[in-house]
Amino acid sequence: MSAYVIVGGVAGGATAAARLRRLDERAQIIVLERGQYVSFANCGLPYHIGEVIPNRESLLVSTPEKLKGEFNLDVRTEHEVVAIDRAAKEVIVRDLKEGRCYRLAYDKLILSPGAKPIRPKLPGADLPGVYTLRDIPDTEAIKAVVDELVKHNGSRGRPPLALVVGGGFIGLEMAENLATRGLKVALVEMMEQVLLPLDFEMAAILHHHLRAKGVRLSLGDGLKAIEPGAGGGLRAILSSGKSVEADLILLAIGVRPESELARAAGLELGPQGHVIVNEFMQTSDPDIYAVGDVIQVVHPVTGAPVAIPLAGPANRQARIAADHIAGRKTPYRGTLGTSIVKVFELTAACAGANSRTLKQLGIPFLSSITHSPDHAGYYPGATTQTVKLLYAPGDGRLLGAQVVGQKAVDRTIDVLAVAIQTRLSVYDLEHLELAYAPQYGSAKDAVNVAGYVAANRLRGDSVLVEWSDIAHLDPQRYGILDVRTQAEWEAGHIPGAVHIPNTELRRRLSELSKDKEWVVYCAVGRRAYVMERMLRQHGYRVANLTGGWTTYKLATEPQSNLMDVERCKTEVSMGPHALVSLTAGDSQDKMDLKD
Ligand code: FAD
Repeated sequence: MSAYVIVGGVAGGATAAARLRRLDERAQIIVLERGQYVSFANCGLPYHIGEVIPNRESLLVSTPEKLKGEFNLDVRTEHEVVAIDRAAKEVIVRDLKEGRCYRLAYDKLILSPGAKPIRPKLPGADLPGVYTLRDIPDTEAIKAVVDELVKHNGSRGRPPLALVVGGGFIGLEMAENLATRGLKVALVEMMEQVLLPLDFEMAAILHHHLRAKGVRLSLGDGLKAIEPGAGGGLRAILSSGKSVEADLILLAIGVRPESELARAAGLELGPQGHVIVNEFMQTSDPDIYAVGDVIQVVHPVTGAPVAIPLAGPANRQARIAADHIAGRKTPYRGTLGTSIVKVFELTAACAGANSRTLKQLGIPFLSSITHSPDHAGYYPGATTQTVKLLYAPGDGRLLGAQVVGQKAVDRTIDVLAVAIQTRLSVYDLEHLELAYAPQYGSAKDAVNVAGYVAANRLRGDSVLVEWSDIAHLDPQRYGILDVRTQAEWEAGHIPGAVHIPNTELRRRLSELSKDKEWVVYCAVGRRAYVMERMLRQHGYRVANLTGGWTTYKLATEPQSNLMDVERCKTEVSMGPHALVSLTAGDSQDKMDLKD
């Protein structure tokens, strides 16, 4: 009888154990989990704090008793593996309840210890009231504080304040959930944008939305120190010198792999401390497998090693490891980083590589941005999806995709993720046959439209420039032509542009000099494309601004709006209505899509 020992009993660990049992009824399978809970829903934790998932028990997907009953697993919670004796093929386990250590023999060992939140070594980072979020005890601690703050709302002469440090997935989810509970939320991000897997102009849509939802956003500013603040609260000091008062600070600045065991056992690690595995999840010791957040994998688009801490890959890797142990050789296909996050009323999603990564790795690419309705515009409730594609300049192979919108973002990104995985090109996207009825999609689906625009570019039917090119255009050589309506022009336009509405352009062609190259734009790019085609056939040299005025405006407006403490106090003293009017005046939240 084989003995399989698994370290960690949540996403990767529990999945590996269940799969092993399905493949080997006779094996002894022991799951060792340091915490009190196994198989809990990490991804649901922010929503319990936000009371979207009111019942704590809903987070507990399984228990040791259930796992024993259904899978005959020996699950030992509060048992920490403290060392691996590779020569003896044993792990040394500390029973945290009894305080004793014991040895446990294994034939195969699977490591799924995950990654822990980074708590920076900054002054005050350990003060009471400063939290990280990983597990059920963290959730309970944060929720208890939030409950208390909500109960005594206003007792400090202002609404309860929360500071979220870090604008990644967990930071954004927590910002929303804390705001849902009635806390005033500030979010500080060291980089110039939230959600780094997105390109800047796609993240800019989120910046705009966060501000409109009343989140005080500070980008390009880091946390320097935390000190006791006024009235028993905390004060965060930022690198810019600004300070933010908060009753609760959540550090969500990333995770570090829990690879100390692997390191001490002499297993091969990558530059950031992740365990290196082969396509069957075997470490440098073939009897030890590793899966989940602790490992680095190969990115299928770039071929580069990456660490992508997500639940889906952890589960798939666990299955691959269990299969291999049971004699089934199914190689892992790499992690594309397909991910999605809800940010108040928006959803942001991405798959594959983004511009930053492609530039860093010197991989040539082109990109285009489209704004399409999530379903037929004539059917009530249609909203806009912004889709960015990144593709190879030669054969148009899809390298990455990003989608931000209110509805059906999950559908669009999943189609695009499959397209990237199956090495489809933007030409293939033009031909995809996707489900359509007015409630669900469009006869020209957002994916088809994104494919048309990208393929038009590759075929030479259209030349695209990006919002960031506009500032660098030499006015002697280039003219900018706005073809929107008078009302749209008056509501805002690119400085220095010439305005001729698309409906008048054919008869006013003489106003456009052929000595210049023209960048045409409209709200999203469709009217401008029609005019680009017309102008080209009249002998003009023309390009279309990809994403149109919508993308240009979002990307070029000020992104941060963090108010300093004094302004915050003034605002609070003006009462809740002042908050509403300040945020409502911020700017319109809905994208204006005339095309
Ligand atoms: P984990 O699930 O973290 O499990 C590791 C376990 O190992 C831990 O319980 C730990 O206590 C235990 N352990 C560590 N060392 C030892 C030891 N020496 N001995 C015994 N036990 C040990 N991913 C998504 O794809 N989508 C989401 O929406 C999403 N939301 C998230 C929200 C939050 C708040 C968090 C924290 C994570 C979220 N994730 C999400 C990430 C996802 O949860 C992880 O990628 C996934 O859980 C990783 O699985 P894992 O098995 O590697 O690690």
